Amino acid sequence: MNTSEFEITFLGTCAHDFSPKLKAEYKDKFDNDARRASALLINDSLLIDSGLHILNSLSIIGKSLNEITDIFLTHLHIDHFYLPNIAEIAGSKQEALRVWVREDAEIECPKNVTLIRMKLFEKYDIGNGITIVGMPANHAPTVFPQHFIFEKHGKKFFYGCDGGWFLNQTFNYLKNTELELMVLDCTVGDYIGDFRMGEHNSIPMIRLMLPSLRTIKAINDHSRIILSHIAPSLHKTHAETVAIAKEFGAEIAFDGFKVTV
Ligand SMILES: [Zn+2]
Ligand SMILES: [Zn+2]
Repeated sequence: MNTSEFEITFLGTCAHDFSPKLKAEYKDKFDNDARRASALLINDSLLIDSGLHILNSLSIIGKSLNEITDIFLTHLHIDHFYLPNIAEIAGSKQEALRVWVREDAEIECPKNVTLIRMKLFEKYDIGNGITIVGMPANHAPTVFPQHFIFEKHGKKFFYGCDGGWFLNQTFNYLKNTELELMVLDCTVGDYIGDFRMGEHNSIPMIRLMLPSLRTIKAINDHSRIILSHIAPSLHKTHAETVAIAKEFGAEIAFDGFKVTV
């Protein structure tokens, strides 16, 4: 029997170059080429990140703010972390909202929030049989970046936006994890020479990474690879990018995309 443990909805899949169309024709609907700030909804109540568009994305899928129990912050850039939106979610609830950040993050705590400071590489039980581990990411150190592995009943998925390549300890931690799903940063399109190599991935970088991730058994032939944090100004259209990624066995996320693990 192969039951799923995680129901994941991509609430946003953009890097920081948001389309002006979000203010007009797509203000209350999703579009593959008008992406919102990167975020995920997991099992109806857990959020990864809470950036500029999170309230809008939740309203598009018809989710009430008070159903959110936990927010896991990858880092403190404004497309992932926007304090007034966290305050609004917390304010909609009776019980405190749990907000999980890297242990060293410098962050203000809004009312009705329980801040949970995560030690890197330590596994936390978040309830309902789910655990989370945070690993340091190769991104601006001033925003306390971390990647996550969520696990339930042996099924694991990795979320790695934002970050370029992997830091040494993080790469070693991924050995033999046999992830069902990897969501990888793919800010930059299919060209070489971009200056962001030390903080974001490009398609040529992903082409190099996937075989090595297979070698260390972070992924196997059944793992799904989904690329997100797409910068529309650095990529071709969504449809063209889907075709490019298919050649090396990856999928391209879009706002509203649902995946089960
Ligand atoms: Zn970002
Ligand atoms: Zn960032």
